Amino acid sequence: MFAGNESVKTSQPPDEGSVCTFCGGEGGARLYRTKSIFGDEFGLRRCVDCRAVFLVPRPSAAQLEQAYEEGYYGGGRTKFGPWVEKVLGYFRSSRCRKVARLVSRPANILDVGCGSGEFAKCLVERGYRVCGTELPGKAAERAAQIAGLTLKVGPLREGDFGRDYFDAVCMWHVLEHLAEPKKTLDIIGRILKPGGYVFISLPNIGSLQSRLFRGKWLHLDPPRHLFFLGRGDLVAEMGKLGFAPARESHLSIEQNVFGFQQSILNCLCGRRDMLFEALKGNVEYAGDYPRWKIFLQKGFWVATFGLFVGAAVLEAALRMGGTVEFVFRKTGTQGCRRV
Ligand SMILES: [Zn+2]
Repeated sequence: MFAGNESVKTSQPPDEGSVCTFCGGEGGARLYRTKSIFGDEFGLRRCVDCRAVFLVPRPSAAQLEQAYEEGYYGGGRTKFGPWVEKVLGYFRSSRCRKVARLVSRPANILDVGCGSGEFAKCLVERGYRVCGTELPGKAAERAAQIAGLTLKVGPLREGDFGRDYFDAVCMWHVLEHLAEPKKTLDIIGRILKPGGYVFISLPNIGSLQSRLFRGKWLHLDPPRHLFFLGRGDLVAEMGKLGFAPARESHLSIEQNVFGFQQSILNCLCGRRDMLFEALKGNVEYAGDYPRWKIFLQKGFWVATFGLFVGAAVLEAALRMGGTVEFVFRKTGTQGCRRV
């Protein structure tokens, strides 16, 4: 079992700021510890009220600013190098097709946390009217260049859009980054039309890879991921807000195969997420790391890819995927269980 936390200091996790990022509940049961790529330690706790797992202490503004600096989005025009971007482009098109299967044109779609706007661009090209939100920075600058995308730079706020305006809202790996997730979901509940869809993908804290690797799991991604909801807990919380689950998928070749591979490397190689950061061209982080080690890690990545596709398929069969993709439908009836 790759559950080691060897590089994490053995001091007790700090207690200050132990308020659940999702529901605001206080305290929570201690789970394990983790360490960010910047060397900051965090504890993980499970909220007794909503069962979300959250980082303790809550990352400071300075820690978050450091985590979202240029290295996070890649220094160039795109986040990754050209051939990785090509593969990611395939997955983006696949997400676009999933939206198109449920949402007929013409339709208004909001992409919350649209990053550099590539997914939004894909929707624009399919003939949708697309709005995006993104925090100020390199990614928002890239998104602003996309023709046909209406961009709001900053977080989604009450009053940004009218009631019942959107036919669909997308949040691809965004929810776990939000400082006020419930507030954001509440706003989405108002700006989405009755019967509209919310597409959400997120790391699954109840997954096989999360349970195996614990503090070394790639998708913990401290300090950017502030909290985690298991699949059942997300469905319950969304139900309270008037959303019912319509689709659930645990197989992501894009996310879950690499989740296994990078987490194993984290256990074996000491420095967290080195391959991932090297692939993004984060020279500041990878700069002093021996190039031959990065070369070996790339070799491991390619050589074992097929093996871990098998592991990701197994996870999905157990409904314990490393990341999960949900489609929820606005029922307007709070507490409704299923469409
Ligand atoms: Zn909570």
